[in-house]
Amino acid sequence: MPHLVTTLGPKNEDELGLILPHEHIFVDLRTWDQPGYGQAETADVLRLMQPEIARAQAAGVTALVECSTGGVGLRADIDKAVSEATRLPVIVPTGFYREPWIPDWVHEAGEAQLEAQMTAELQSQIGDSGVQAGWIKVSAGDDGLTACETKVLQAAAKAAASVNAVIGSHTIRGRVVRDQLDIIEAAGYTADRFIWIHTQAEPDFDLHLEMARRSAWLEYDAIGSNDFSDDFFIERIQRVLEAGFGQKLLLSHDRGWYDPAQPGGGIPKPYTYLCQHFLPKLRASGVDEATIQQLTHTNPFNAFARE
Ligand SMILES: [Zn+2]
Repeated sequence: MPHLVTTLGPKNEDELGLILPHEHIFVDLRTWDQPGYGQAETADVLRLMQPEIARAQAAGVTALVECSTGGVGLRADIDKAVSEATRLPVIVPTGFYREPWIPDWVHEAGEAQLEAQMTAELQSQIGDSGVQAGWIKVSAGDDGLTACETKVLQAAAKAAASVNAVIGSHTIRGRVVRDQLDIIEAAGYTADRFIWIHTQAEPDFDLHLEMARRSAWLEYDAIGSNDFSDDFFIERIQRVLEAGFGQKLLLSHDRGWYDPAQPGGGIPKPYTYLCQHFLPKLRASGVDEATIQQLTHTNPFNAFARE
């Protein structure tokens, strides 16, 4: 039976409502070699993030995907503590971000070693956190994949294939996604299990449709940000729906989070904009309730679900 692998165990579709497919509870954008990288007291993260999660739940959020991967502050133990305190299921990734956030040992590791680690985390647990990884998060350089990023993606494709997990990638340009889908297919996996994170950053809308035709997931994940207006997203969403790819579209904020580089973890941005502001506008633009349900529940469940 398809289910999400979460911090609170497996979750079936009928146990969940609205799912946010791209948010962060904890991020550290300093590189791994900086003093204090990824360090924080769990109690401090709880103090900051528990109220944000509670507000999200009150707005209708029933699960959240953590998008902080290896190299940018993946802390599965902290995600688990926040999840258990709030009873919000969180889907946590394995994987590695792009250069220069990729640690030295990943540069030196062979593809098989990286595949083995990601497979173990998808099947068992991330480190000794007690959290099973639900998916794989990677990234790519804006102008193209480096040799190391290619190695990580090939390893990710093979690891993901072992459990039918989805691979999501922070990728800014559509032409780089094209290369990534070629690599995944050459490694024996499928574009259908790939999420193009930050699709909105590619101005050429034809590339959005090209990747959707190849069966990749599109993700508009800066809803509520200063960089893209609500009208921008509503127009793009309507064009995706008109093109017949409403079953491959994901919506999220890319918000949160506790940042250990900031005093007290900084000031988190709320996870409530989509529910409280954006969806009412999307409804008012003529998108019906069944489609809203598809975009905010069915699609994120299907994208991240494993058999
Ligand atoms: Zn993000």
